Amino acid sequence: MDMDTTSTRAHDGHPAPRALATEAVHAGRDDLARQGLHAPPIDLSTTYPSYDSRGEAARIDAFATTGAEPDGPPVYGRLGNPTVARFETALARLEGTEAAVAFASGMAALSAVLLVRGSMGLRHVVAVRPLYGCSDHLLTAGLLGSEVTWTDPAGVADALRPDTGLVMVESPANPTLAEVDLRAVAHACGSVPLLVDSTFATPVLQRPAEHGARLVLHSATKYLGGHGDVLAGVVACDEELAGRLRQVRFATGGVLHPLAGYLLLRGLSTLPVRVRAASATAAELARRLTADPRVARVHYPRIGGAMVAFEVYDDPHEVIGAVRLITPAVSLGSVDTLIQHPASISHRIVDADDRRGAGVSDHLLRMSVGLEDVEDLWSDLDAALGRGPSRGAGSCANSHSAPALAT
Ligand SMILES: *Cc1c(COP(=O)(O)O)cnc(C)c1O
Repeated sequence: MDMDTTSTRAHDGHPAPRALATEAVHAGRDDLARQGLHAPPIDLSTTYPSYDSRGEAARIDAFATTGAEPDGPPVYGRLGNPTVARFETALARLEGTEAAVAFASGMAALSAVLLVRGSMGLRHVVAVRPLYGCSDHLLTAGLLGSEVTWTDPAGVADALRPDTGLVMVESPANPTLAEVDLRAVAHACGSVPLLVDSTFATPVLQRPAEHGARLVLHSATKYLGGHGDVLAGVVACDEELAGRLRQVRFATGGVLHPLAGYLLLRGLSTLPVRVRAASATAAELARRLTADPRVARVHYPRIGGAMVAFEVYDDPHEVIGAVRLITPAVSLGSVDTLIQHPASISHRIVDADDRRGAGVSDHLLRMSVGLEDVEDLWSDLDAALGRGPSRGAGSCANSHSAPALAT
């Protein structure tokens, strides 16, 4: 693979720092012009010819020892793929990490991390709620042999044990948009690797590695792909952990398809523009919702972003049933706006008490704001919110005397 570090260096041999927007469109593509190409090629090979089986054996041995990407062709599609590698290179550049390893989904990526740590005898995980519902489920059910201690960010240091292999947080968290002080948690972790699920933030709004996270996880299905047509996951980390993750990916098979790798690389090129535009709209909708007497509470993160969560006084199912422009659907991060009811869908799999304890109210709606015009979105929301129980009462002040929501 011709994606070495030299390709990121300026002509004088020193690294040339480039802005995020520039990396987004150029990273993972540095070799194309030299090859006489403009769009990245899609390599669909599952296997690669080799007339030198001794050399091949040495390359396989090297992969088995370190998980380093083989020099030259990848041997077999489960070891690596050049098109997927372009996306990995680009994402690592955006996150400011040495490497990134892509998987078939966000859950496959998290599974690989748990398997890497578990295989080292470090099965205990310290985690902060809320997490995405299926991540919570994977840890709580111990499906991969891990054992979890749930705590709040301040309790991380005390929850560590000699067999703790991972601390996991999500920030902003799905679905409440709660934010974690990453630097403080990274400090509390000591030598235990901190994994930050940064799906909601994207590298445009937050780069957890700069705050001490050793592993940055994305459900690339969301903003990185950005168009609702790719299922993928990725972990950005140092080369040592990346090698282990590649070995687990090779052994368990959760590889990303090259077409998905191509679409993700293309998605990254517009990531900064998409995230900034959708965030501006989301911030405005959050402002209007906050001022709206039909809405009990609005959650919008300090770092911004395109996700808004809000609690309604009325039946949240009525709002879901009444939207027309906005699509009622799980998932997020696409060009169009989606809304869903976490207690019924994305976090259904979490025990109801645990869910409510993590601040996921039964009245909470989670909206992923897309690239539509803000006024069109607001008209749809306004109509879907209906009269609301407080409208008849006529004033904002009255609305706050409505029964408090269970949280
Ligand atoms: C969707 C999501 C996941 C799971 O990713 P998949 O690509 O659906 O497997 C993990 N974390 C967060 C925060 C998510 O939103």
